Amino acid sequence: MAVDHRKRITIWNEFVHERTKPEVKELYPDGIHETIRHALVEKLGDGFNVGCATLDQPEHGLTDEVLENTDVLLWWGHAAHDRVEDAIVAKVHRRVLSGMGLIVLHSGHASKIFQRLMGTSCMLRWRDAGELERLWIISPGHPILAGVENPYFELPAAEMYGEHFDIPEPDELLLISWFEGGEVFRSGCTFRRGQGRIFYFSPGHETFPIYHNVNVQCIIANAVQWAAPITRGTYDPDGRHIQASLSPIKCA
Ligand code: ZN
Repeated sequence: MAVDHRKRITIWNEFVHERTKPEVKELYPDGIHETIRHALVEKLGDGFNVGCATLDQPEHGLTDEVLENTDVLLWWGHAAHDRVEDAIVAKVHRRVLSGMGLIVLHSGHASKIFQRLMGTSCMLRWRDAGELERLWIISPGHPILAGVENPYFELPAAEMYGEHFDIPEPDELLLISWFEGGEVFRSGCTFRRGQGRIFYFSPGHETFPIYHNVNVQCIIANAVQWAAPITRGTYDPDGRHIQASLSPIKCA
């Protein structure tokens, strides 16, 4: 059997709101994960194998085979954080420490895996009033922001996430959001845990078409490339993991 040398990306979504709220289903008829998957396939091209996993699958779709072969895991959850099995969280945690990239999206801030990796509550202020969000670029030139509108881009209607955001000091702060209600929020943060690279990116409330936005898609695609390890597999105590070199992607 031919070996697949492509980077393997797994988009995990609890996939609850899209099946219970008509307004969410209208925006994401096949689920948020499928919208993100289409965007990543378009932007990343042939070097990446992009798949999905959801809460209701056996082992939440995160079997040992899937996890061992995933280079970057994306995480979207909101209503069902407590239904994620602790044993699966422990496996994801171990994989991050051994080099798997993790991209935590929006309400994933309160997921078991993000809280475990951060060691804090990861809670924040919020208000769902469809406000304008202006995302300021704090680290121009960072690979995760390549091709993104500078000095800021806007989302016309978003859920407000505001400080204080109870996270450890990020390794890098890439974006700060301002909302028309006056709050600000650290909306793009990187962390490193063990061998793994982690990116938290806050836009993505399910009742707005945020994952259809080209800047948002571009940031997620860049983050996948940034977080992907060059090698995959077991924990390397010598720390010889080297991050994958970045290749330019099409953003518009
Ligand atoms: Zn939300």
